[in-house]
Formats: sequence, structure tokens, C-alpha cells
Amino acid sequence: MEITWPFKYLLVVALLTTTAADLAQSQESGVKDAAARGANEIMQTNQKKFGLVIHGGAGIIERGGTSAGREQEYRAGLDHALGAGYAILKGGGSSLDATEAAVRVLEDDPHFNAGKGAVNLARLVMEKSGHVMMDGEGAEAFAAANGVELVDQKYFYTEERWQALQKMKEAEKRGGVGGKKFIITDQDRHGTVGAVALDKNGNLAAATSTGGTTNKKAGRVGDSPIIGGGTYANNATCAVSATGDGEYFIRSVVAHDISALMEYRGMKLPEAAQTVLDKVAKLGGTGGLIAIDHDGNIALPFNTSGMYRGHVGVDGEFVVEIYR
Ligand code: ASP
Repeated sequence: MEITWPFKYLLVVALLTTTAADLAQSQESGVKDAAARGANEIMQTNQKKFGLVIHGGAGIIERGGTSAGREQEYRAGLDHALGAGYAILKGGGSSLDATEAAVRVLEDDPHFNAGKGAVNLARLVMEKSGHVMMDGEGAEAFAAANGVELVDQKYFYTEERWQALQKMKEAEKRGGVGGKKFIITDQDRHGTVGAVALDKNGNLAAATSTGGTTNKKAGRVGDSPIIGGGTYANNATCAVSATGDGEYFIRSVVAHDISALMEYRGMKLPEAAQTVLDKVAKLGGTGGLIAIDHDGNIALPFNTSGMYRGHVGVDGEFVVEIYR
């Protein structure tokens, strides 16, 4: 059976959590490929493998850099997200549902820099708008028309992120601090959550949700909502969700590049993922990514000191890790 465009994406939204200006720019975006949707619906195979990989952002996350209690809170959040996605996959549910469920848990967890509700609208955009991406006022109007609850900007406030923003602004005022030099600690900057999954029907999906980078300019768009940049899924190859210096990930077209190395070069997932991340590093970008292929193989490379991450497969063993 020949399947054309057998890919499906789930793109999840950038919810902005830092400044009032950013909040005014809150965007909800989503993607879909209509042809892909049709193809995926008929792509029923006998494969019963499934798997889920999640991340909660990469950055300067060092052993001993946080209290044991706080570390445990992060681990519990990741575990909870894995549980939500795993239950769906185990029960024969779709990778799309599993990634959405996992990301929603991470969005609702204030430890991670991604906001509540975003994934819901992204999915509606994918399934109902006839478009690949929507943003700004139009996206909000689409959300309202589809009965999606729009939360007040205040909802996204956390004292920690607010303080991080103030710190960044201070650093900026002192002058000469630009780009990556804004990174003071992981907590000051990192933040994106993501999930990739393979379901029992052989369908792959990827979801990414982010608050973006702290102190970004209003209107800035990072890699997370860019299909082929920070998010991508293709049933013929793999599903990818990235986190890190978005500008570098966009320039390197990271997620699609991994898929392309597999598709055109016949590279295996771990090698393809590492190759592309090395390319990002060469440009000066830091971060990481999670990926799963159509056979359930996974890759979780990162070039920072840590990345909140976890995975589970058919054996039901939950693996949660933070440090290198
Ligand atoms: N990639 C995200 C962005 O650039 C941020 C992150 O993952 O830390 O918006």
C-alpha cells in the first residue's frame, strides 16, 4: 500500500508568561496537514509497539543545583505526564491523544514554562481550521468561536518567572548583555515542554508547548510552533520535539533535518538526532530534543548540562531523568 504524505503533526502553542507586552502577544497556533490526516486514518497496521517520550526543557540544570525536594517535584511532574500519555497508548489510543495528554499535564504544572490550555486550541486548529498555523487575534477569535476558554493573562503569572524577568531586565540595563548572555541560571531562562509518541497503529505525533524565552521581544516567534523547526512528525521516519535556543533550532530546521537524514540517507534515529544537534552546537546553539521513530526507537540528546525528560515503552517501565 502506498501512502502519500503519511504524516501528522500536532503543534502546540506558545503561551507567553513573562512580560505584559509578551502577554499581549500571546499566540495560539496549530498545524495540520489535511492530506496527512486522511492518510493516517487509513494507516492501520498490525504493529503493536508503542512508546512515549517527553521533555520539560533543557538548560543549565546541574546536579545539586536545586533542593532534593524541588528535584522530586520535577520528577513527579514528568512521571505524571508519562502516566497520562502511557494510559492512552496502552489502551490503544492515538499518539495524538497521548502527546496532547502528556503536554497538558506539563502545561498545568507551574514547574515547567508552558501554559494551561494551549494544546486544546492547537488541536482544534489542526483538525478544524483548514490551516497549518494561526496566531494573534485571528487565533483568539477562532478559539472563541470554538468554545475554547480564554484565560486571563494573570493566570500565567508565577513569582519565580517574574523574578527571572526582573533579573534579565536588570542585566540588560547594565548594558552589553545580549542573546545567550542573558542565561543566568536555568530557572531564568529555560522553558518548553514536549511529547512525541508512537501508537499501536504505527502513527507518530509530536507536541510542543512553550512560554518562550524570558525577556524576548514582543512578537518574537521561537522554534516550538515552527513545523520542521521545533516540532515535526512523519510516519515514515520519526516524531521530534525540541527545546533550547529557538533561533538556532529554526535556522537549522532541526526537526525536519532529523527526519530527512533518516528518509534520504537511511540514517538511524539516534545518529540522525545527534548529527543535527551537533550542527546546532556548531552554530552556537544549546538545547536538546526528544524523538521516537516508527519502530519505537528513541533518542533524547542534549548539549546542555541537563534536560528534564522521560520515556516509557511497551514494557511499561517509566524512566525519568534530569541530568547528564
Ligand atoms: N525553544 C524555546 C524558544 O526558543 C525555548 C526553550 O525551549 O527553552 O522559544
